[in-house]
Amino acid sequence: MPFAYYARLSAPRQRIYRQSDAIQSLDLPGGVATAAQVVQIRAGLGREDRAAVQSASQVLVDALVAGYRVPKIRVRVLAKRPADDGGELHGLYEPDDDGTPARITVWMRTATRRDVVAFKTFLRTLIHELCHHLDYELYRLPETFHTEGFYKRESSLVNALLREESAAAEPQGRLL
Ligand SMILES: [Zn+2]
Repeated sequence: MPFAYYARLSAPRQRIYRQSDAIQSLDLPGGVATAAQVVQIRAGLGREDRAAVQSASQVLVDALVAGYRVPKIRVRVLAKRPADDGGELHGLYEPDDDGTPARITVWMRTATRRDVVAFKTFLRTLIHELCHHLDYELYRLPETFHTEGFYKRESSLVNALLREESAAAEPQGRLL
């Protein structure tokens, strides 16, 4: 069952929607180590250290885009989301434009509540925006839609990153 807005799309856009919806999962690229960066994002958010969160997020996204063999993305982590910016998401994806690389902006704090966003919310937002990039650059879709398939890809990649992080945290003995 597509989301309600599907009915209002033109036939060509419905075709893109269905292509997006059909891709149900997204694995980590082979041979890419991500645990250390995820640990650093979690720790940086805990310390409210914007610069540390930004650099760890950039290193994580660099590793993922290299693994998927897609163009680079600049990652920007800002302190607080602007108050007049509607919607419930905490991030923004801007595709590449005339040689300027694509950019992801993620906010550390919501506009209304001044709390630092929870680690999993932050990671999910970062990966959500990366998934928009992958729609264009990996799947070669002319448009990026929020479909059920899109959210499943987002979830499967977030879960894979969290599994890598907890596997790395296990005591050495467990690995023998
Ligand atoms: Zn989105």
